Amino acid sequence: MQLDPHWQALIDFDQQHIWHPYTASPNPIPPIGVKCTQGSLITLADGSEVVDGMSSWWAAIHGYNHPQIMQAMKDQIDQMPHIMFGGLTHEPAVELAKRLVELTPKGLEKVFFADSGSVAMEVAIKIALQYWISRGQKRKNRLLTVRNGYHGDTFATMAVCDPVNGMHHLFNDVLHKNLFAPAPESGFDTESDNRDIQALENLLQTHHFEIAAVTIEPIVQGAGGMRFYRPDYLKQLKALCEKYDVLMIADEIATGFGRTGKLFACEWAKVSPDIMCVGKALTGGNLTLAATLCTENVSRTICEGEPGILAHGPTFMANPLACATAIASIDLLLASPWQQRIADIEHHLKTELSPLAELDGVTEVRVLGAIGVVELERSDLGPKVQATALENGVWIRPFGKLAYTMPAFNIPSEQLQTLTDGIKAAIHSL
Ligand SMILES: *Cc1c(COP(=O)(O)O)cnc(C)c1O
Repeated sequence: MQLDPHWQALIDFDQQHIWHPYTASPNPIPPIGVKCTQGSLITLADGSEVVDGMSSWWAAIHGYNHPQIMQAMKDQIDQMPHIMFGGLTHEPAVELAKRLVELTPKGLEKVFFADSGSVAMEVAIKIALQYWISRGQKRKNRLLTVRNGYHGDTFATMAVCDPVNGMHHLFNDVLHKNLFAPAPESGFDTESDNRDIQALENLLQTHHFEIAAVTIEPIVQGAGGMRFYRPDYLKQLKALCEKYDVLMIADEIATGFGRTGKLFACEWAKVSPDIMCVGKALTGGNLTLAATLCTENVSRTICEGEPGILAHGPTFMANPLACATAIASIDLLLASPWQQRIADIEHHLKTELSPLAELDGVTEVRVLGAIGVVELERSDLGPKVQATALENGVWIRPFGKLAYTMPAFNIPSEQLQTLTDGIKAAIHSL
């Protein structure tokens, strides 16, 4: 990539001084400069345009700079970009909460606005622990989850991430000692094999007296392995939570707002969790905002206990600009033919990517909704796939053995073709 001196200086400073996600500093791999975005196109520092296959990690579901969202943001900036949420409220927070209560699974009535997905999950865990404290069952303070999960990078959430991917060994002495069942084994479409849920039930049977909640990513395990599992598993898990009197926390931060083909992935199993987190696509990828929802029962129990409040309150809680952006994104999504668009993307990804499964170096290809995953045999192949895709005009960011794409729902069909052609070329080049 040929860069002008201005851009070269920016990249040099960055490499020396700025942490990027999961990198060293100084960073041995120069980051790629981005000048601007439009729709599903990203203009890089050298002036070239590439098709975005990542939606900035599940978030930019309408592509970038959507005029309707840009207008809502500009209007809100003129009105009031921010005001503290302690003792005050505003229309964007109320209007957004109305939508979340209405759209999320039945029973989720209370909304806590958080500033990132990890914080939303921290709050979910805090709610679950406080629920049992209020019920006088302090011993119920551990979490049960499945392997290959991802729930965030903060300390309470790290302790429910996959122990290997989540690097538990580094923080062994400080992480909460939670319980891990094997990951759900059978894929989305496969016949149910009850062995995986049996392992989970065994843990519940033995440990329910000390378990506050089960945390789970419904249907799609994201950053912990990009695995899909059958809705039946989620349904059985919900029934087990009721049987053994533990709460269910559904982490819809990656899956929420249509990505899997349902508005929320819990809908595949017609399951209503006790606590649910949303984030990522909530603002259409324009600003950081997340939310934790819980049932009336959970909130009432907490508020009837001691000290009668939920003890959490970020400085930028319910930031009006972020809330207004989320409202615009949700209204845009619901007014669009999103189900048809996702079905079309799913069909395209299946048609184009599935044949890659035959190639040497590829373990499996999985597609669900607007998510396509090519699992490679070796994790060192990822950087090569990324580089070749980029030469073919496509931005993807493999991690470990996983090359994957989750395009914007409104990606134009020619660009979707460029995207899958680029991925195919990259995999073939291995
Ligand atoms: C991304 C993600 C998180 C963490 O969200 P951040 O905004 O990165 O803190 C939590 N859970 C899931 C399922 C995610 O995909």
